[in-house]
Amino acid sequence: MKGLRLEPAGPPELPLFSFDVVEMLERLRVEMGVAEVGPVTLTMRPETTLAFIRTRKGLRGGDIHLHSLLNRPDTPKQVIEHVLRHELIHLLVPPREVDGKHTMHPPEFWEHERRLVPWAGLSWGWIAFALHEVIRRDEEAECIHVKRGWKRLFRRALPGWALVEEMPLDPGANLDSMDGLIDRAKVAAPGGP
Ligand SMILES: [Zn+2]
Repeated sequence: MKGLRLEPAGPPELPLFSFDVVEMLERLRVEMGVAEVGPVTLTMRPETTLAFIRTRKGLRGGDIHLHSLLNRPDTPKQVIEHVLRHELIHLLVPPREVDGKHTMHPPEFWEHERRLVPWAGLSWGWIAFALHEVIRRDEEAECIHVKRGWKRLFRRALPGWALVEEMPLDPGANLDSMDGLIDRAKVAAPGGP
């Protein structure tokens, strides 16, 4: 989930969500005070990462990209709202150096996420448990890579939001928790790790 500068793979898709995602994005831009930062577009494509926002030097706003993996009617609304809010926070909290390392997600980024997405811990859990077979966290690049075989998940329904509502999950979980969450999901999956 960072501002990668990769060329998109494949043509853009129409949204297949069970709700109006464009309306959601517009609502979030206003609610989060991002409207003044500039226009934000949304594209669904089979990229190499789960989601990112591309900003361009000298241009205001940004382009949010969601992986096609998420573009389906059974992706919980809470997860898409979390991911959109996460990407919009990137427009509010610039990357900076922390302990000698350039990072897209300094501590104040996660403070914003906890405040603006109180259900983020559950959503990170849902992403890990629903998608663990086809995702991998890339610590260095600060993103979630989508593996090549991601289309296999289209053979079955995704779990609903109820999956994580009863789960003992850390409400403060974030991208740094994903290795542990993915490991937990693999152990819990039928057939084990
Ligand atoms: Zn991010």
